[in-house]
Amino acid sequence: MSAHITPDTQCVYFAYFEPYSHERHLDLLGSAAASSMVQLQHLGSTPEGRDMTLLRITDETSATALEAKRKVWLMARQHPGETMAEWFVEGFLERLLDSDDSASRVLLQQCVFYVVPNMNPDGAVRGNLRTNALGANLNREWMEPSLERSPEVFLVRQKMMETGVDLCLDAHGDESLPYNFCVGTEGNPGYSERIETLENAFKTSWQASCPDFQTEQGYSRTPPGQANLTLATNWVGQQFDCLAFTIEMPFKDNANLPDAQTGWSGERSKNWVPACCSRFWRWPAACAEQTAAGPPPHSNHMPHTTMLRPAWLCNSR
Ligand SMILES: [Zn+2]
Repeated sequence: MSAHITPDTQCVYFAYFEPYSHERHLDLLGSAAASSMVQLQHLGSTPEGRDMTLLRITDETSATALEAKRKVWLMARQHPGETMAEWFVEGFLERLLDSDDSASRVLLQQCVFYVVPNMNPDGAVRGNLRTNALGANLNREWMEPSLERSPEVFLVRQKMMETGVDLCLDAHGDESLPYNFCVGTEGNPGYSERIETLENAFKTSWQASCPDFQTEQGYSRTPPGQANLTLATNWVGQQFDCLAFTIEMPFKDNANLPDAQTGWSGERSKNWVPACCSRFWRWPAACAEQTAAGPPPHSNHMPHTTMLRPAWLCNSR
């Protein structure tokens, strides 16, 4: 690749993708913490002494007891150069904390959200693409994280064991595929028809609400039982028998809906979130419905309406 530029200022930056600076990360934490719904928790420190910060978000005044609420985890930037992931979190938080948004208000009454906006602050500050300050690829550390090599994963995993997980989304960017897609846990030893049904319902619902999401293009499916459990999504899905997805966004553009001016961008990474969030509010009520009705029918050919009805993403264990 070559580029020609005549700078008209003294300082010019080039970036692989629109940056998400450490300053913006700190601003994001600060603005989120201003909401009465948010508790900012320090889980511990990175190898270089930066805070591992978790945002716990729920409506404490709601009638639903905390223990009865669904636990939704969202994390980003295990691979710190995939900055679109934190833009995604920014859009997610803006929507979730919008007090004029009725869907978000219902969600906060019925769920607890645990959000780690930056899983790898050291790597982000250093400008690393895929590793932490010690050279560890954090998304290969989930089986046996250690405080010495991968404290970022160790601390978050420890917190997950404490809270439980009903849904986990791990946001990334993919350098080769020009599409938005998500990757499930079909290769896990514990993968079941129930999880498959929930995965399909999740994807169908997302696709119906957001033209920037698609299911045709993505990684090839992992054969049964051959999942790499060192990846966050696979480990979480296996450990908690729950719905878990890796979300992948493009570096260049969404080939199905290209923008010649901007390509895929930070703003677009933010803006496709609300479209998917708008379906979340149906989830807790649908879970109750499904629990009352018993387990979902064991069929791979559920009618479309049934898939959308109870519960997409309901973890009815
Ligand atoms: Zn990644």
